[in-house]
Amino acid sequence: MSPEHVLVVGAGLGGIRTVEQLRRVGYEGSITLVGAEERLPYDRPPLSKQLLAGDWEPARIALKDAAALEELGARTCFGLRAVALRPGEVEFADGSIMAADAIVLATGLSARKLPGQPDSVHTLRTLDNALSLREDMATAKTLLVVGAGFIGAEVASTAMAKGIATTIVEAAPVPLLRGLGEEVGAIAGRLMAESGVELRLGVAITGFANSDAGAAVDLSDGSRVEADVAVVGIGGRPEVDYLSDTGLDLVDGVPCDANGRVVGLNGVWAVGDMAAWTDPALGGHRRHEHWTSTSDQALVVARAITGAEVPPPAVPYFWSDQFGLKIQLIGRPDIADEIVALRGEGLAGGLIKGTVVGYLWKGLLVAVAGFGAARHVARCRALLMQSTDRTAAVEFARSF
Ligand SMILES: Cc1cc2nc3c(=O)[nH]c(=O)nc-3n(C[C@H](O)[C@H](O)[C@H](O)COP(=O)(O)OP(=O)(O)OC[C@H]3O[C@@H](n4cnc5c(N)ncnc54)[C@H](O)[C@@H]3O)c2cc1C
Repeated sequence: MSPEHVLVVGAGLGGIRTVEQLRRVGYEGSITLVGAEERLPYDRPPLSKQLLAGDWEPARIALKDAAALEELGARTCFGLRAVALRPGEVEFADGSIMAADAIVLATGLSARKLPGQPDSVHTLRTLDNALSLREDMATAKTLLVVGAGFIGAEVASTAMAKGIATTIVEAAPVPLLRGLGEEVGAIAGRLMAESGVELRLGVAITGFANSDAGAAVDLSDGSRVEADVAVVGIGGRPEVDYLSDTGLDLVDGVPCDANGRVVGLNGVWAVGDMAAWTDPALGGHRRHEHWTSTSDQALVVARAITGAEVPPPAVPYFWSDQFGLKIQLIGRPDIADEIVALRGEGLAGGLIKGTVVGYLWKGLLVAVAGFGAARHVARCRALLMQSTDRTAAVEFARSF
């Protein structure tokens, strides 16, 4: 039976897509969308790309303008933070309580900071963060990026394109280690270095230092890096403080079943970066901090809430634009025990553009990464939907 009132907490991508999908599936009951930010819902990927570069202004990244929101027929409250979840209701920071028979959690992440991080050192999660960094970068000649994850790499790429000399400091031996693994991360490292970034790998920050420059950090190898502007990109922390009294295990996001239903709570679903859905093929809970996965999950949750048939599980997909190339990743590289070159020379130390790498687990293809090889990566998607072994994957790649 369809609920009478759906309350969506968090008005970013996952929240807005859930509302859209509820209406698309024909849900006619009442919907309330509540978000902590004062702004209308906006899209985050351009924050480290076109918006940071100054090529786009905030209006261009709106997910919905006021008129489009109105058309969805949802009641909206912006600038209101959830502070507690109880059975059938959510409490907000102004003391108000909203009851609903279905509650969707879509509160995303907050950017992690380093201990002792000064206020003048940036992080990047929100539009306000991006505008503040953009303003400081407008007059900067040098930039320090702490953390070579996707966001740090994209900020470095945007800065280099503006002629800002950029240093990236990363404790791991290669950039993008968590997303791509060691060998493929090394390709990304080469792309950065060939693009002129000074890459300091395998060194940790031991502290922030006083300096006449805008920012300075001391490193574990005894050296110091100074720059006009600094940004820390060391990942995010699921926004789950308001769930602390629910009894959920919140060690890495909100545990959900394979359709986004929060495990152990009735009538509660979760989508997006904060949601750790069960992987139906491999078991275990897994969060994906991916734009496309968030949209896919919103579709599943809207259909599950209304009792409509849910689509088969989608393969996780992520892209990143950096240093003139689109890096794409489909699947689960985190579980791989072997990799194989499917196309191009990047893995062997040659030309990076056009490189496609397969990730295998127990001999089966579980992920594909590409550098400037969008057409080929797209063709590999079908391979990941079925059991494809190494020989078949290599054979398929020959047809590229
Ligand atoms: C700079 C940047 C670049 C990115 N680039 C890419 C890319 O190139 N490719 C890609 O695939 N993905 C990219 N991503 C990731 C993608 O944007 C996320 O996967 C997506 O935004 C997740 O949506 P979400 O709804 O889970 O979270 P969000 O979009 O973060 O929305 C969560 C919302 O919930 C609100 N909220 C938090 N706590 C509360 C509370 N207690 N009460 C009410 N509201 C609350 C927040 O204010 C926020 O507005 C990027 C992310 C960032 C930050």
